[in-house]
Amino acid sequence: MLRVYADNAATTAMSPAAKAAMLPYFDEIYGNPSSPHSFGQAAAAALQEARETVARCLGAKADEITFTSGGSEADNQAILSAAAAGEKQGKRHMISTAFEHHAVLHTLQKLERQGWEITLLPVHEDGIVRVEEVRDAIRPDTALVTIMYANNEIGTIQPVAEIGAICQEKGVLFHTDAVQAAGHLHIDVAAQNIDLLSLSGHKFHGPKGAGVLYVRKGALRLQNLIEGGGQERGKRAGTENLPAIVGMAVALDEACKHLDQHTAHVTKLRDRLIEGLSNIPYARLNGSAEHRLPGNVNFSFPGVEGEALLLLLDSMGVAASSGSACTSGSLDPSHVLLAIGLSHEVAHGSLRLSLCHTNTEEEIEHILAVVPKVVQRLRDMSPVWKDMIKKEAV
Ligand SMILES: *Cc1c(COP(=O)(O)O)cnc(C)c1O
Repeated sequence: MLRVYADNAATTAMSPAAKAAMLPYFDEIYGNPSSPHSFGQAAAAALQEARETVARCLGAKADEITFTSGGSEADNQAILSAAAAGEKQGKRHMISTAFEHHAVLHTLQKLERQGWEITLLPVHEDGIVRVEEVRDAIRPDTALVTIMYANNEIGTIQPVAEIGAICQEKGVLFHTDAVQAAGHLHIDVAAQNIDLLSLSGHKFHGPKGAGVLYVRKGALRLQNLIEGGGQERGKRAGTENLPAIVGMAVALDEACKHLDQHTAHVTKLRDRLIEGLSNIPYARLNGSAEHRLPGNVNFSFPGVEGEALLLLLDSMGVAASSGSACTSGSLDPSHVLLAIGLSHEVAHGSLRLSLCHTNTEEEIEHILAVVPKVVQRLRDMSPVWKDMIKKEAV
């Protein structure tokens, strides 16, 4: 049976080139980058090269790049550092959106418990924040605007450069969680007025457990989340995970070099999927069709239970998601789908298919053969669906 992996927003397969680049760092160049001997210096040189590569891909400078354990750590560090800087100036307000990743939302909730005021802007039915609403929400005591570059569930792309320009004009720091964008969209931190940016290696065919926090030079002093040695210029203690950092840099470089070619291929597959799945009765595409990641497809099928849909699809060779991997396991519907106005009932019956450049047309045809059948089968078994149809409540 054909097995199709369509869950690339949860994590990706390692790029063969990135994997090959990592291997010597386990048992050949294994020195500690902080050691002054030749073993350590070889490792330090590789670390510096990775830093320069990542910086080049983002339009940044090498000394603006801090390596972290992933996207979650980078998000936490960005927000908590901006909070520490804000406190010193008597600022205790932040602006974000209702559909951020939990690494951002839960950090903001932590600040809220410490007396911070948090404004969560709406993202409207199309899953896009309005630039004018960002402008109107900024106050004299606003310490940070943190708005994701692209959403992990519905793939909508935010007007990052415009938001950055407003923040710059108003003198407010701007952070963006670019975990879903890095390696998939062109990023230029200088041109887009970004002060802080998070990314994660395993979302663009690099290894798990490596991420980046970009901080524009002079924007703010990073706070340590982990105390210890002086690694990462004293901003992130702990011996660097050099194999993963090298693999991440190679994967990002590769993704950026092939970005246009991959985008063309993946967009074609995505549009074929959207077209085909739209034929399912009462199917609803979640999020803007226009401002959308090349690989993201997200539909709701009223009358269908998401978990059952995933299990049946898996048994027929299709690996997908019904929300974000971090929230599955809980029965609460996705906060992202609620934020774009879906009812609890409809949000439960949603399906995310996230593609990458190694997906093929044959795989898309397999998905298109399987999903309508599974949706029909689940609806046939569902008393809720029969009730909805009878009441014309769809
Ligand atoms: C995956 C993801 C994260 C978390 O990254 P990790 O490296 O897994 O910690 C943060 N934000 C978004 C938008 C993500 O998709």
